[in-house]
Amino acid sequence: MRINENYLKLQESYLFSTIARKVREYSERNPNKRVIRLGIGDVTRPLCPVVTEAMQQAVSEMGRAESFRGYGEEQGCAFMRQAVSGYYNKKGMNLSDDEIFISDGAKSDLGNILDIFSADNTVLIPDPVYPVYVDTNIMAGREIIYINGNAENDFLPMPDKNIRADIIYLCSPNNPTGAVYNYEQLKAWVDYALECGSVILFDSAYEIFVRDEALPTSIYQIDGAKSCAIEFCSFSKTAGFTGTRCGYTIVPHELGALNKLWLRRQTTKFNGVPYIIQRGAEAVFSDTGLAQIKESINYYLENARVISETLAKLGVWFTGGKNAPYIWLKCPDNMSSWEYFDYLLENANVVGTPGAGFGKNGEGYFRLTAFGDAGNVREAMQRIINL
Ligand code: PLP
Repeated sequence: MRINENYLKLQESYLFSTIARKVREYSERNPNKRVIRLGIGDVTRPLCPVVTEAMQQAVSEMGRAESFRGYGEEQGCAFMRQAVSGYYNKKGMNLSDDEIFISDGAKSDLGNILDIFSADNTVLIPDPVYPVYVDTNIMAGREIIYINGNAENDFLPMPDKNIRADIIYLCSPNNPTGAVYNYEQLKAWVDYALECGSVILFDSAYEIFVRDEALPTSIYQIDGAKSCAIEFCSFSKTAGFTGTRCGYTIVPHELGALNKLWLRRQTTKFNGVPYIIQRGAEAVFSDTGLAQIKESINYYLENARVISETLAKLGVWFTGGKNAPYIWLKCPDNMSSWEYFDYLLENANVVGTPGAGFGKNGEGYFRLTAFGDAGNVREAMQRIINL
């Protein structure tokens, strides 16, 4: 037996465990202080009624012999794939149902998709970034080329003709920066990928937060994207499914063999999402479901607005906070990410996430999230103003 030695090249992930330890130690030393957490990437609003009703009905069906279901289709039930294609169709994009694959979330698919690519492909990953893209490629032993997100490009790095890579990761609206590519910028990426013969892995997990109609929510709104891009999306942030687990991946037929390879991969290594969960997810895309989830998204976007407004008043540089649940700010007074973390925790009892945890370009930056309670967000902002 020999282990996969690529795993030994992974950096230990200390980010969230270090945050938890620092908060715990602070609270033990200061039991009377109320710490407000604006660092978590998890949602706090419950599933909407139309979703829980659909799930309850599906539970009843499973308890009756005449409506019981066993194994489903690995790529998702037909009704669920139709719900996704209907959602895209309303936004003017045509997808056939066999281009849609239902999964237990975007994280799994983002990692698993690498199965269908050769191990010697090169990978282009923006920095800072959602760490899963980097770690899954290190596990597979791939060479990673980083492109820099920074204040000069508003954390929206653009293609460089001198750098070529086979696989390109893009995430818009972005975690951790909240930055969103516009049509022109995404078009430049699509043109570049078509020219280089690369594939774009487009993560649209936060698309539901885009309210500005001048911004794209899917890469397939760009001409030519179906010939060069796979899109990953999730019900986690869209509809509070972080613990319920459902997502979907789109592999267009224009990508040639990739659609068939992904089907083969899924039918071999995956046995589908539970029927009850798929019925809940289907309900998200009903008219009532879309109206109900809009209320939760409005709630988070209002938190983001309150945070952004506070930072703007204080003259702090930031991006995101509009069309995204993340606010990415420059640490004041040239503090490092962790210095600012300690400073906010000690002096305002507010917890965020140090940008350094998302790559080297995250150093000196800090992520706040809009997923918390509205009263807590307002209080946290007042504390920061007082500080
Ligand atoms: N993609 C991005 C950019 C994320 O931030 C997250 C979760 O935080 C995911 C994917 C994972 O989503 P899921 O819960 O569907 O696995």
